[in-house]
Amino acid sequence: MFQILTNEKYRGSALLQKKITTDFLSKRQKPNEGEAPQYYIEKSHEAIIPPDEWEIVQLEVARRKALGHKYSGNSIFSARLICADCGEFFGSKVWNSTDKYRRAIWQCNGKYKGEHRCTTPHLEEQYIRDAFVTAFNSLIRRKDELIRNCRFVMDRYIEEQDETVRPYLNEIRRILRAALPEAQEKISWSMPTYWKGRNIIHFAASKKHLGLYPGGEATEVFADRLADYDVSKGTIRLPYNRSLPEELIAEIAVWCYRQYVK
Ligand SMILES: [Zn+2]
Repeated sequence: MFQILTNEKYRGSALLQKKITTDFLSKRQKPNEGEAPQYYIEKSHEAIIPPDEWEIVQLEVARRKALGHKYSGNSIFSARLICADCGEFFGSKVWNSTDKYRRAIWQCNGKYKGEHRCTTPHLEEQYIRDAFVTAFNSLIRRKDELIRNCRFVMDRYIEEQDETVRPYLNEIRRILRAALPEAQEKISWSMPTYWKGRNIIHFAASKKHLGLYPGGEATEVFADRLADYDVSKGTIRLPYNRSLPEELIAEIAVWCYRQYVK
């Protein structure tokens, strides 16, 4: 599965010469580490995963990689509970699985690792569930503060980008804020996002362009007016060497809002 999600063939492009044949008699192959040229063919066949989803997946893969642990999504708390003592994830275990004393517990994965074994005590799953509900309810009560924090997270996203692209990010944020006064700013799929009950539109900084992600329908509806831009299903690439088409971006955002927010 992971291979599918990261192999560019599935997004309709192909990187040729990934492996090279080192011995033509035995047909032995090795990974191409730069000995032979690689060719990247965009749109070499129809995409199996639409490009916009593919880009989102790559961001999520990068996020999980940045966690620095093996990622597992087996349970709602998997890869979510981090030990404050040693930084490892908590993993789940079932005790007394066959009898009526069966219970699920979570313990630090650092418990059996290395010389300095982590001694953080285990937690009953029920305790974590209750704590989660308590925390969630307190968040709801502090909704306004939370919204401010989400904005702050978007500030941080922009601050962390290259100095040269920051003006474009601030500009698109200004355009989208004005177009979507009812929407909330947040980070979703590692991208600045406008949200109202569901994601409306995302944007993200790439090396050479600003990506705008309004969904596949929107890029179809606005295809004629986007003819001047590099567009694939759900993705609009706005190059940094041109000024942002303010009116068009605002119209697309409003269209998404009307379409998605019921
Ligand atoms: Zn620990």
